[in-house]
Amino acid sequence: MQRFQESMLELIVETSTNLPPDVRRAIAGAISKEDGARSKLALSTIAGNIGMAETSQQPICQDTGMPTFFVRCPVGANQIQMKAAIQSAVKAATKTGKLRPNSVDSLTGRNSGDNLGPGTPVIHFEQWEQDEVDVRLILKGGGCENKNIQYSLPCELEGVGKAGRDLDGIRKCILHAVFQAQGHGCSAGFIGVGIGGDRTTGYELAKEQLLRLADDVNPIPELAELEQYILEHADQLGIGTMGFGGAATLLGCKVGANNRIPASFFVSVAYNCWAYRRLGVIVDPKTGSINQWLYREPEDVLKPGLETKGAPMMGGREVSLTAPITEEQIRSLHVGDVVVLNGPIHTGRDAIHKYLMDHDCPVDLTGGVLYHCGPVMLQAADGQWNVKAAGPTTSSREEPYQADIIKKLGLRAVIGKGGMGPKTLKALHEYGAVYLNAIGGAAQYYAQCVERVDGVDLMQFGIPEAMWHLHVHEFKAIVTMDSHGNSLHADVEQLSLERLSNFAEPVFK
Ligand code: SF4
Repeated sequence: MQRFQESMLELIVETSTNLPPDVRRAIAGAISKEDGARSKLALSTIAGNIGMAETSQQPICQDTGMPTFFVRCPVGANQIQMKAAIQSAVKAATKTGKLRPNSVDSLTGRNSGDNLGPGTPVIHFEQWEQDEVDVRLILKGGGCENKNIQYSLPCELEGVGKAGRDLDGIRKCILHAVFQAQGHGCSAGFIGVGIGGDRTTGYELAKEQLLRLADDVNPIPELAELEQYILEHADQLGIGTMGFGGAATLLGCKVGANNRIPASFFVSVAYNCWAYRRLGVIVDPKTGSINQWLYREPEDVLKPGLETKGAPMMGGREVSLTAPITEEQIRSLHVGDVVVLNGPIHTGRDAIHKYLMDHDCPVDLTGGVLYHCGPVMLQAADGQWNVKAAGPTTSSREEPYQADIIKKLGLRAVIGKGGMGPKTLKALHEYGAVYLNAIGGAAQYYAQCVERVDGVDLMQFGIPEAMWHLHVHEFKAIVTMDSHGNSLHADVEQLSLERLSNFAEPVFK
């Protein structure tokens, strides 16, 4: 079992740091067809980040997500010991910063610190007639997991109208699923779809579709046709990379079907971001050694964006800012400008926003910059903290708090991804602040912008949720909501809704 545990650790590290060739190929395809300036520069950052993560063997994205293992083993294999070995490997990967400590008590919010706890990691066991052990792992972050959606047919859907209990109704659900994700799940994404089952097994089937190769062909002709249709048409929604608007919105669509009971007809959709981290290994059951890597290709030839320096984020007007930022500086910014930050920024996500509603901020943030980010941090022997991954987290979760926090702290800029809602937009206008969209998942790109860690407060919330005081150099993000009432996110959502309505007419009879 010791060797099996080491093999599992190897699988975790490779999955977290090195995207498989089929995913790289899909991203390269998006780069070649993208025409929108903002989406193109987001994709170039993503490509650079993929290369940096591989070269430095650090996490592609800071969000470990819910590590989910699918294990097929021969009859007689000891699943109890295998489960313990997988858990030990997860713990070891967390200790070295390959996984962020991501498992929290659902009631108290306490972070277990090692990614272990009731229900984490998820391990699905299945017996099979082969002699070897097949282990596959998906690391799927919260931003895209939160955009999973389940439909119960028949239903009425925004944009496409009535979706019935047939292939055409399923088609409408899938297009709607892509629409509702917008940029929140770090598009351009991949989707797995489960038709049928019950509410639980439908989602399981959807997630299992993500184990398929991005460029395989469904053996069931109707489903192959549906997958092809979705892949060819979803881009017409115009959501683009990170929801910036553009030509590449969806990179893969895989559909499976299970039987259902007559009363239920579920269509379950698992949305996966571009950071589609899934790998697998075939393990020798006698030695525990890896015999073969799955999803790898003989030469692993296609590796776009292997440059180790950050990709240039050019396209809009570039404006350099250092906190404390003045209201005048903020009012001069407009949607589309690229802001280059130097100096102090401070992280804060869910726990911090809730805390700040009733407590004073531990530091003065007047004119300051708040970064929606839960970084991967490691402490050196001398006590100094080092940033291992530091991309933005989904901002919409903070919508209930953000306007009050901007006012209370006197913030001038909020950095995150996916955009925020009307309440925040109004506050940006009223108090003179901007929302800056960083590139979701570009955790290595942003980690290398951090020159030093100046300190940390509120560690009682755990490493990802604490308030980290970072000193950054040339940290680039795009103004997507300005202080004049403009929101790129609202514009793209409106446009994509209009385009979604073009798909209301039946296609599959
Ligand atoms: S790329 Fe975006 S959605 Fe995916 S895990 Fe990272 S932050 Fe979450």
